[in-house]
Amino acid sequence: MNRRDFIKTGAGAAALLALGTRPDGVIRAYGQKATAKKILVLGFDGMDPHLTDIWMKEGKLPAFKRLAAQGGFRRLGTSIPPQSPVAWSNFIAWTNPGGHGIFDFIHRDPKSYFPTFSASATEGATKTIRLGNLVFPIKSGTVRNLRRGKAFWQVLEEHDIPATVFKMPANYPPVPSRQKTLSGMGTPDLEGSYGMLNYYTTESKFVNEDIGGARVHQVYVIGNRIETKLPGPVNSFKSDRPAAEIDFKVYLDPRNAVAKIAIQGQEFILREKEWSGWKRVSFPLIPTQSVGGICMFYLKEVRHQFKLYVSPINIDPARPALPISTPVSYGEDLEKKFGPFFTKGLPADTSALDNDILDEGEFLQQDDFVLQESRAMLDYELGRFDSGLLFYYISSTDQRQHMFWRLLDDKHPAYDPVLARTFGGTIEATYREADAILDRALTKVDKETVVLVMSDHGFNPYYRSFNLNTWLRTNGYLKLQNEFKEEELEWPFVGTNWAKTRAYGIGLNGLYINEKGREAEGIVAPGAEKDALVREIARKLEDYRDPMTGDKVLARAYVARDVYTGPFAGDAPEIVLGFNRGYRISFKSPLGRVPKDILEVNKAKWSGDHMGAAELMPGILLANRPFAAESPALTDVTATIMDVFDIEKPQEMIGASIFK
Ligand SMILES: [Zn+2]
Repeated sequence: MNRRDFIKTGAGAAALLALGTRPDGVIRAYGQKATAKKILVLGFDGMDPHLTDIWMKEGKLPAFKRLAAQGGFRRLGTSIPPQSPVAWSNFIAWTNPGGHGIFDFIHRDPKSYFPTFSASATEGATKTIRLGNLVFPIKSGTVRNLRRGKAFWQVLEEHDIPATVFKMPANYPPVPSRQKTLSGMGTPDLEGSYGMLNYYTTESKFVNEDIGGARVHQVYVIGNRIETKLPGPVNSFKSDRPAAEIDFKVYLDPRNAVAKIAIQGQEFILREKEWSGWKRVSFPLIPTQSVGGICMFYLKEVRHQFKLYVSPINIDPARPALPISTPVSYGEDLEKKFGPFFTKGLPADTSALDNDILDEGEFLQQDDFVLQESRAMLDYELGRFDSGLLFYYISSTDQRQHMFWRLLDDKHPAYDPVLARTFGGTIEATYREADAILDRALTKVDKETVVLVMSDHGFNPYYRSFNLNTWLRTNGYLKLQNEFKEEELEWPFVGTNWAKTRAYGIGLNGLYINEKGREAEGIVAPGAEKDALVREIARKLEDYRDPMTGDKVLARAYVARDVYTGPFAGDAPEIVLGFNRGYRISFKSPLGRVPKDILEVNKAKWSGDHMGAAELMPGILLANRPFAAESPALTDVTATIMDVFDIEKPQEMIGASIFK
């Protein structure tokens, strides 16, 4: 997909925005104090037990060490596969993916072989979803959370136990509740995408490049002035659905490295290398309708080249165009207290770093704003936490490991010794930040409060990419119409000969059988024929070795029916790939492309990942009181919460309290 296609499909949920489908604002804020018991759960996305252990032993994580000595420190069993939406859903819904129906970031429509976003659906709109540096549009205006089963805070609500759930992943839109919840990972920007930045430059080298998640505008300085536009959500009120736009001007100081930005009646001056803080913008749709958002400007360079970065336009928490909290007033109250804040699901702009728009230092400056904001809001919530449960989520641990692994690990193909001198310690510094957050929280809670610290999965290097669909083609399971074609990069599965294709890969870990009666052009009969094929492919995948290193590429090829239980287990991919250390799915295969080579070197900045076999990718669990469980799993954390509040485990739920 080229940049032009991307922009074309980079549509927004504007119909939805304009029609104001936010839920009723009349839901009463929840807060009955039926219990004096308190549990604080800190969720540090992607915190890895091995690294935590090393830095704890070196005395770099004193608060973690204290907690480990007080209660314990264990590896926390993660989901199959260890992707954040799947893992956090295991925790949220107290079940495995067969019970909550989220198997991957990406599912598929068997009738079209088209990738779909697993966690939420916006009907009646076309929008773009971005995962790392992977970008794809989904067709699917109401927005719906696709996770099944009850969220644990809904269960707490039934028992009159108040909860605040801050930025829980895979909870967009937030499920109906009277509890205070703010959505996190999965929350789109104002364009309905996973983060579309705008970049204005006089440099021509970027223009017409294939860039995902970023819109590059070539600008011209005429008489020390630049006139340009900030595009926003698609204006679905107009038949050709153009993006709504705001004109703005930049005035360059003739002598100094300073510029003035004039946009919608606001004027502000930025020095070179200065951030603007949040600015409100409003996109006119029709004379009576507009939609508002917030964004940040960063003046990267004034001369010799002009370079201005504008962050993805976040939903404005003061007047949310899409639902981001329950009750609606919760997000608005936080905005009153703190001013505008990051609402986009994963706030770090990894796309800007991936595309050389922000450098490492600039990326971290922006992500530091995220951390500062997280710390301030946690302080605020802890200050008023007097009953029930507080769950608090931190994203920077995950995002920075994805982007900076290459500078921690000199075996990584994207290792850069010069950059490593400055940024090789970024991941360690981030763990120390996590430690400071934990330390602060421990000083603010009373002795009676149960404190649990968890991560959803660990981390691994990402050295080499696996093209599943190419492997399937090489092994005769997937056929192209043109047998002699070296590669097929149009997606999804353009040029695939379905009449002869028995299996295909979609998503980051999923392999599906082209099943008769289920897939549009299915050929494999369900039952014995399919079962035998699944076992055969799984065996071959587990035997497959990287010709360059001799290593197994997959530690496990899980057969779904062996590992999932529950009412939605049948929706799973037939095989779930559990990669070996150092390997991951490529960025091309998940959307149905068939590149030339089975394996490729990963030279991207996105250099750490966690798509491995669950056994290789545990998260962390610590508590402030001794616990017995030797190998706890995500669902055991949910069971622990329920146990502390004396809520009985329903039969169909999985897990046991770690304290029992
Ligand atoms: Zn991650």
